Amino acid sequence: MPDCRADFPLLGTTVQGRPLVYLDNAATTQKPRVVLDALQHYYTAQNANIHRGAHYLSRLATDAYEQARAGVAAFLGAASPREIVFTSGCTGSINLVAMVLSLAGLVGQGDEIIVTTDAHHSNIVPWQMLCGRTGAELRVVPLTAELTFDMQAYLALLGPRTRVVALPYISNALGVVNPVQQAVAAARRNNPRTVTLVDGAQSTGHLPVDVQALGCDFYAFSAHKVYAPTGVGVLWGREELLAELPPWQGGGEMISEVTFAKTTYNTLPFKYEAGTPNIAGNIALSVALRYLQEQGLEQVCAHENALVQQLYAGLAAMDGVRVLGPQENRGALVSVVVDGVHPYDLGTLLDQMGVAVRTGHHCCQPLMQALGIPGTTRYSLAMYNTAADVEAALAATRRALNMLR
Ligand code: PMP
Repeated sequence: MPDCRADFPLLGTTVQGRPLVYLDNAATTQKPRVVLDALQHYYTAQNANIHRGAHYLSRLATDAYEQARAGVAAFLGAASPREIVFTSGCTGSINLVAMVLSLAGLVGQGDEIIVTTDAHHSNIVPWQMLCGRTGAELRVVPLTAELTFDMQAYLALLGPRTRVVALPYISNALGVVNPVQQAVAAARRNNPRTVTLVDGAQSTGHLPVDVQALGCDFYAFSAHKVYAPTGVGVLWGREELLAELPPWQGGGEMISEVTFAKTTYNTLPFKYEAGTPNIAGNIALSVALRYLQEQGLEQVCAHENALVQQLYAGLAAMDGVRVLGPQENRGALVSVVVDGVHPYDLGTLLDQMGVAVRTGHHCCQPLMQALGIPGTTRYSLAMYNTAADVEAALAATRRALNMLR
């Protein structure tokens, strides 16, 4: 793919006098100029509140906002823009689903919710809270010895009480790609009414996603991990399910008619979008997704895969470094544990050499408990990273480990 670094102003930063090597993309990505320009353009040329406005600017803003929704729908292969709910982020999307399932009475005492050992807290805690409200129970899919999804154990967990299956497409702490399509299909075979949710926080923008082909009911992701602003996210849901489920938050926009006696709700997707949304952020998200498509998602995927293989091989070759999970079938990140070296110490030294990585539990404390480790050092890639970035990170890691041991 063409070198796109020049499109990202912040990548020109120096850290402690060294050029920044930014490998914390699983936490958040940098933003291309087109996205920054879209934000600026919205506030300088389009800003007005959307929907119901009789005036020119409101129509302009509404059109841009609804076009953004259509852009996201096309990006995900959704059947209709009505299936795209704008939220505050992946966390907001998952909480919305967990809340409306209990409001609908679809989960009750003794029912079971399946989550995975490698889940992010955002895909555990909302379900735990749902269990607290309803008396349902969490069931956790273990990892295989290779730290991959244990399909056999998962199939054994599926049963007559399984109401929800919530799976991360790519583990943010391990980089392992989970077989979500097969897992969703198995959940459907077990019971067609089981609700399936895929956490797409680490897959969106890193591999082509077609929500209809995945076969799930819900798919959630955050804009800020796909080159767009923070505070914006998407929940894709199958239209018939979204239509059947009740709204969660009440307020403006989500209503059809309000009287003190009774309120009727708006059509999809507005039923789930109470209040004034992050209009500029949502527009900027669609600009980011268009930019990504212009780079070519297949090419981005191949580019990141080549880099992640280089990174994995380089780290695995270092003495005392254990790379978590297999090399193949991997998202754009690598997590390591180093004998006798605390991840924070490694991360701090790497920072002094201009290399930004993330250390700690990565919001996956149950995974760390299962692995018996305090945390990992995680190197995560995006489309603008280069082989030179990976080389620099590997060289800095070698130097840091020499200093620490
Ligand atoms: N799920 C996964 C797999 C993630 O990596 C993240 C972010 N690290 C989230 C959920 C939550 O995303 P956000 O904080 O943007 O809502």
